[in-house]
Amino acid sequence: MTASIIDGKAFAANVKETVARKVETLKNDHDLTPGLAVVLVGEDPASQVYVRNKNKSTVAAGMNSFEHLMNDDVSEADLIAKVNELNNDPAVHGILVQLPLPKHINEAAVIESISPEKDVDGFHVINSGLLATGGKGMVPCTPLGCIMMLKDKLGNLSGLDAVVVGRSNIVGNPMAQLLLNESCTVTIAHSRTKNIEDVVRRADIVVAAVGVPELVKGDWIKEGATVIDVGINRITKDDGKTKLVGDVEFDSAAERAGAITPVPGGVGPMTIAVLLANTVTAACRQAGIEEPA
Ligand code: NAD
Repeated sequence: MTASIIDGKAFAANVKETVARKVETLKNDHDLTPGLAVVLVGEDPASQVYVRNKNKSTVAAGMNSFEHLMNDDVSEADLIAKVNELNNDPAVHGILVQLPLPKHINEAAVIESISPEKDVDGFHVINSGLLATGGKGMVPCTPLGCIMMLKDKLGNLSGLDAVVVGRSNIVGNPMAQLLLNESCTVTIAHSRTKNIEDVVRRADIVVAAVGVPELVKGDWIKEGATVIDVGINRITKDDGKTKLVGDVEFDSAAERAGAITPVPGGVGPMTIAVLLANTVTAACRQAGIEEPA
C-alpha cells in the first residue's frame, strides 16, 4: 500500500477538543452554554444509536443536550409545532431532526420549519442557497468534515480537478459546492453519468458518496490522488460475517492514491464532531459574539 491513511478518528478527536475549549471560553466569558436539541421520531434502531452518540458527544463537549422523542404516528403538524417550540427556546442554538422520518411526514416541510440560524444540519433551503452564493449560512456536517480533512491534507485546493460521485442534497451537492468555493474544477458524477471511470481517472480529488459498496474501483484512481470515501455499506462476506465497506475498493485504491480515508474510521467520525462545531458557531451568531479562536 502506498497511500497515507487519513485518520478520521484522530481528526474528529481534535475537532471535539477545539469545540470543548471554545465552549469553556463561551461559558466563562459570556455565560453562554451552547445547546443542541435532537428530535427523534419513532424507534428505528440505527437512528436511536446516532441520537445516543450525538447526545453523549454534546454533553462531553460541555454543551447542553436536549432530546425529544416522538411516537412514529406523530402528525406532521405536531412535529412542526415541536420544532417551532425549539425555534423559540433561547437555550437551544441548534436543532436537528433525525432523518429518515416516517412516510406520512413530509421531510422537506419539517426541515423548512427549522429556523435557518438553528439548522445545524445545514439542510434548510436558505442554507443551501447561502452555500451556493458564497454566503454565511450553516453548512451540512458530512461534506464540511470532508473539506476540512482535504484542506488539512492538501493545503490549498485551488485549481485541482475534483470529482464528486453522488448528488444527494445531504452529501454530494453541498460537497461539490464546497469544492467549487475552494476554486477546484468540479465534476459531479451520478447514476446517469457515462464512462464514470474515465471521469474519476481525471481527478486529483475523488469524493465518493453513493451508497453502493466498492463502486469506485482501485484502477480508476489517478496515481497520487486524494480519495475521500463517504459511503457506509454493510455487506455479508462468504463466511456469513458482516463487514462495513465504503463506496471505494479500499485495498486497490490505496495502491494508487496519495491519501485515502478508510471505512470505518474515516469520514464517519467527523460528522458528529462537525455537528458540535456547527452548534458552537450557531450559538455565537445568535448571541452576536465573535466565535472564540
Ligand atoms: P443518496 O442515496 O441520497 O444518494 C446517492 C447518490 O449516488 C445519488 O445522487 C445517485 O445519483 C448516486 N448513485 C447511485 N448509484 C450510482 C451509481 N451506480 N453510479 C454513480 N452514482 C450513483 O445517499 P447519501 O445520503 O448521499 O449517502 C451516500 C453514502 O454516504 C451512503 O453510503 C451513506 O450511508 C453514506 N453517508 C455517510 C455519512 C457519514 O457520516 N460518513 C453521512 C451521510 C451519508
